[in-house]
This record gives sequence, C-alpha cells and structure tokens, in this order.
Amino acid sequence: MDRTQVVIVGSGFGALAAAKKLGKAGTPFVLISETTEHLFQPLLYQVATGVLSPGEIAPSIRAILAKYPSGDVRLGRVVDVDPDKREVVYEAGGIRHTLGYDTLIAATGARQAYFGRDEFAEVTYALKTVADADRLRRQIVRCFEEAHTTSDPERRRDLLHFIVIGAGPTGVELAGQIKELAGRYFEKSLRDVTAEDVTVTLVEGAGETLPVFGGKLSKYTQDSLERAGVEVVLGTMVTDIDEHGATLSSPGNGFEKRLTAETIIWSAGIQANDFAAVLAERTGCETGRGGRLLVDEDLTVGRYDDIYAIGDMASLNNLPAQSPFAMQGGRHVAAIINGKRAAGTPFTYRDKGSMAIINRFRAITRVGKIELTGVLAWFLWLAVHLVYLVGFRNRYVAVMSWCGSFLGHRRPHFHYAQEIEPADSNELDRAA
Ligand SMILES: Cc1cc2nc3c(=O)[nH]c(=O)nc-3n(C[C@H](O)[C@H](O)[C@H](O)COP(=O)(O)OP(=O)(O)OC[C@H]3O[C@@H](n4cnc5c(N)ncnc54)[C@H](O)[C@@H]3O)c2cc1C
Repeated sequence: MDRTQVVIVGSGFGALAAAKKLGKAGTPFVLISETTEHLFQPLLYQVATGVLSPGEIAPSIRAILAKYPSGDVRLGRVVDVDPDKREVVYEAGGIRHTLGYDTLIAATGARQAYFGRDEFAEVTYALKTVADADRLRRQIVRCFEEAHTTSDPERRRDLLHFIVIGAGPTGVELAGQIKELAGRYFEKSLRDVTAEDVTVTLVEGAGETLPVFGGKLSKYTQDSLERAGVEVVLGTMVTDIDEHGATLSSPGNGFEKRLTAETIIWSAGIQANDFAAVLAERTGCETGRGGRLLVDEDLTVGRYDDIYAIGDMASLNNLPAQSPFAMQGGRHVAAIINGKRAAGTPFTYRDKGSMAIINRFRAITRVGKIELTGVLAWFLWLAVHLVYLVGFRNRYVAVMSWCGSFLGHRRPHFHYAQEIEPADSNELDRAA
C-alpha cells in the first residue's frame, strides 16, 4: 500500500502553511485536496463584485508547492480515516484510494451554517468558494440588467433589493460593496438606475454590527453603512426564506415583517466541513459549536498524538475561526513534525490584531489596545491582504484593479451573458 510520512488534507490557509514548513525541511508529505486551488477567501467579495477575477485569488496549490521536491499534491476528497492503522481513504476520479501516514494534518475548513434550516441554502447566495462568488456576481449583474429593461415597477423594486443576513465581516463587506456598486458603477452605466433605487438590507440577530469587535468599532461600522444608504436591522432574526423574500422577526417584542427581494445572501455563521464529523467519530474527539473539533492544547485530536486538526475545523480556547489561527496552527504542527518543537508542545496564538472592511475608504482595525477607523484602517486592510495574497503577478494585478475600481469606476470582471432559452415554436407561430 501507498505510504508517506505526513498526509495533509485541504489546500487552504492551514494546509498551505504546514506544507511550506514541511517542504522547506525536506519532510516527505502528500497534500490531498478536493480543489486544485489555494483560495484566498478574504478577497472573495471582490470577485463577487467584479473587482478581481477568480484566478487572481485562487492560484494553483500544485504550482505553489512545486519547489518542494519532498511534497506531492493529489486532487481527491478524503472520506475516511482509520486512526489505528494510520490510513486515510480518498476518492479521486471515482476511484477509492488508501494512503498510509505517520502523521495526519486535517485542515478541511468550514462551510456556511444554516442552523438546522438547510433548505435556506437552496434560496440564498453564499460566499465560501469561487463558485459561490461567481454565482453571486452573475446574479448581481442579472438583477441590474433586468431592472433596466423591465416595465413592472414591483419587479424592478425586488430586482434592486438585496438582503444580506448576518453582519459579521462577510455580511458587512458585501452590504457595503453592493450599495457602492449601485452608485459608483451601475449609476454611471445604466442611466435609469440610481443609487437611491437600490436597497440593501443588512439583518443581524445580535444588537450590533460586527459583534466580535463590539463597542466603538461596531458603532462606527453601523454609522458608516447607514451613511452609505444601507438599512441596518439589528436584534432581528430571519425566520423564513423563500425565492421571493425573507420573514424577519424579533422574538422579544412580537415584531414580524416580510421583505421581498430577488437576492438574499446568507453569511450568518460557519459549520465545519464533513471530514470533521468523520474524524470525531473515528477518534472519539468531541465537537463544539458548528461541529468544530475540540482539539487538545497541542492541536491533536481525540486520544491520538499523530492526528492534528487546524484552522476553521478546530476549536481551541475560543480562538477566532480566521486565517491567522489556521496559518499559525499549520506552522506549529509542522515544527513538531520537523523536530523543531517537542511533541505535545501547547499551541500559543499570537494575536496580531483584527480588521474588517466596510466600503471604499472605510475599515476598522484593532491591534492590542489600538483601534483605528476610516481611511488609515482601509489602507492597512488592503496592504495586509496584499502581503498574504500568493504570487507577485496576483499582487500586481490586484493593485492595478484596486486603482481602477476604488479611484476610478471600473469593475473589469463584470461579464454576464444571459442564458437564452430556446424559443417556444407555438409562440413563434402565434406571433407570425
Ligand atoms: C468571505 C470570507 C471572508 C473572510 N475574510 C477574512 C479576513 O478578512 N481575515 C481573516 O483572517 N479571515 C477571513 N476569513 C476566514 C478565513 O478565510 C478562514 O479562517 C480560513 O480560510 C481557514 O483556513 P482553513 O485552512 O482552516 O480552511 P479553508 O481555507 O477553508 O480550506 C479548507 C480546504 O479543505 C478542502 N477540503 C474540504 N473538505 C475536504 C475533504 N474531505 N477532502 C479534501 N479536501 C477537503 C477545501 O477544498 C479547502 O481547500 C474569511 C472567510 C470568508 C469565507
């Protein structure tokens, strides 16, 4: 049977950080991922709003790791693990393969959580993958194009109404961007659609936007969005969604309201991807909120000291499910495997600060006790994300695209082609 020293599952922030460290030390590893890309999720909203193309934020993981001869990349979906035999099972091209390991690093991330209402996935837009961003971009362009041609005022209103559920970083950046698109891009190119015609409603169950920041920064975010024309609805739950709209309610005061819209975006929480549940079952590891594995202090899983889980699929001391936790976890585990740190060394998280973008020239940043808002925080957000974007060409293209979109009015990636249904021949006969 096929064996290697280390198997890494996933190709996100955690997996890449671990693979680079192992590769630099010449440690043999096989990275298995269900996608060939390393996706830079924080810039997905810019793909959805036409600023960047998918290729610029999702370079090939195989190309990134090509310089490490001890590494091998395989496209496949890991579906099972036998911790006692030290084997993983993965599916590739419809065939099941078994691969033995000495150490397993699981970094399979998370997807959107619908809190027991999985049917909401059918009628909402998400932002987790390149396919999600592409689907949302097409929907935004379609709505503006159809609003331009329809003569039905009610339909026009619904086409130009965007409901965003969840005021975490993803919801805030999308709400801010869509409103900005209306004024800075579409208003210039579709003369009969003004920014005032476009309604963006941001709904949040907690009492403030960006609840993880809280206080002054959350208030600044809310004020900035409202000043830009976004309707911010706080302390309100979404209890029902269908393809025509959403029902909002506040359990405390009996408030209930139905909003109609063609586009509803769900960004209300995360749930660990399926492999976390498989690992939990096979290792006896407990799971917490969103099915995230409650890992040990050294990031090992269950009672197995040769299986690690890192990033969004893992939960430790309430650390945020964000890229620094994934990257630092990947480096920590690789240091143990490379013999640079003793086995069992507890993971220590270095908090380098948090930031969130709101719209053009507005962001918030917290580093220790220092809190920044406005243009400075916005430049800092762009600079930090540029540093972590993989590849010189991608960084160069990103800077050029940002200049075009944020200083000018360009959205170079807003292509949309209507899918034309074949005409009904009876109708054609009648028309003739
Ligand atoms: C829209 C958005 C904006 C964000 N903005 C920020 C931000 O500004 N700052 C920040 O710090 N964080 C941000 N985050 C969070 C950050 O992106 C995540 O914390 C980070 O990606 C987690 O890394 P990970 O390695 O755990 O998982 P991921 O990056 O999600 O990677 C998981 C990988 O595992 C693969 N996979 C899943 N299941 C399997 C399987 N069974 N077999 C094989 N492969 C599998 C997936 O294809 C994927 O490649 C954002 C996230 C989103 C969605």
